[in-house]
Amino acid sequence: MPCRHEGFFGNDTLLPIVPRILTSVVMSGPSKDDALGGDSQSPNPESNDHEVVRDRITNRTFNEWYSEQQFQNNILEGQAYFNGPSPPKDPGQHTPSKLLQCHRKTSYARKNAPQEGTPPEGLFWIGSEFEEQVVVPFLQAMTTPNTYVTNSLWIDTEIAIGGTELSLRGSTDPTIVTADAEPLFVTEIKTTTSLDHLSEPKPHHRAQLHAYLYALDQEYDHSITEGMIVYGSRKTLNIESFHIQFDPNFWERVVDWMRTQTEYEQSTELPPATPERDWECNYCSFKHRCGEVETPYTDTGCDGLLPVFDKYDRQNLQEYLEAHEDRDARLTPTLAHHFPDLVEKFGVYDWRCSGCGASFDWNTVDWNGNGDDLPFCPDCAEAGDLVTLSGPEADSQLNAGRE
Ligand code: SF4
Repeated sequence: MPCRHEGFFGNDTLLPIVPRILTSVVMSGPSKDDALGGDSQSPNPESNDHEVVRDRITNRTFNEWYSEQQFQNNILEGQAYFNGPSPPKDPGQHTPSKLLQCHRKTSYARKNAPQEGTPPEGLFWIGSEFEEQVVVPFLQAMTTPNTYVTNSLWIDTEIAIGGTELSLRGSTDPTIVTADAEPLFVTEIKTTTSLDHLSEPKPHHRAQLHAYLYALDQEYDHSITEGMIVYGSRKTLNIESFHIQFDPNFWERVVDWMRTQTEYEQSTELPPATPERDWECNYCSFKHRCGEVETPYTDTGCDGLLPVFDKYDRQNLQEYLEAHEDRDARLTPTLAHHFPDLVEKFGVYDWRCSGCGASFDWNTVDWNGNGDDLPFCPDCAEAGDLVTLSGPEADSQLNAGRE
């Protein structure tokens, strides 16, 4: 059977470019004064201002507004490097918050494979607010007269294991310090849906805290071997805390995980699909690409948009395409149907018949955008051969996955 899919379009160069969508969507709209007929003191009750406002309140404008707020705030806070995709990481470099997770998922994320679905911005926001607005003041109230709370400490350390050089970089959660800002006790703050059945900290959270303890212990003259993982319920605001003592055996497991991950990336091998936890695939942003769901993709590499796949988040998609402009990244025909307003800016790959090889401009083929009912090739169909349209590299990608 011929494949019903469109092209797979690979990219491997990543640049941190960020869309400034709000500028065109919101800022180009009428100013408040304009919308109020030029007199903000005396709005005309007969005007259609309320309709203008009503029509502007959509999920899309909200997402674009929120994205712009984040963009500006990152610059305000001196963290412009958070804007846009991160550059691909050096294989030996690791981040404490990404340890002890599925190796394949980690590779996808580190190499900026396009993420599926919508990022959990709400969870990020709640986590950050809980830490800054609730936990930090609480810790300040709990400190002794001789100790203080710092929001975070930067860590940067090197580890050599069996000829492999590793580095760990990141920043801690609130830490109890001396009056000279010397760390004494590190916390790791997490929010969770429920504290029920939480009898011990999750291994990857333990690994994260161990990474901080290891790095700080290396950096300071005095020993730093203790910390605490604090889980806060997003529903009740109750907390559950776990005292953590640095465990060399557990740390050995974490270092071994880092070494393995580094070796996969040095060999440019796609790591095996081996989640560390049962539920990891359910929440994975690459599960279609990986092949853990009922879609025609499996063991797909880190580059390129999936053919016929339409579950990319708009913001993620734009960032991906902008970051790969130098490689002429474009929308797939499927995504062009879903995001027609992005067509002019990014362009669209052609359909191509997997049977006869003919190419067709994406919008010359009659199709309603339904991924379950892909168009047939006009050339082959005329010859009586019902071959669907697909893209040039998609065949090898998908067929390889089926073998
Ligand atoms: S779907 Fe599961 S196995 Fe595949 S990359 Fe994600 S976590 Fe790993």
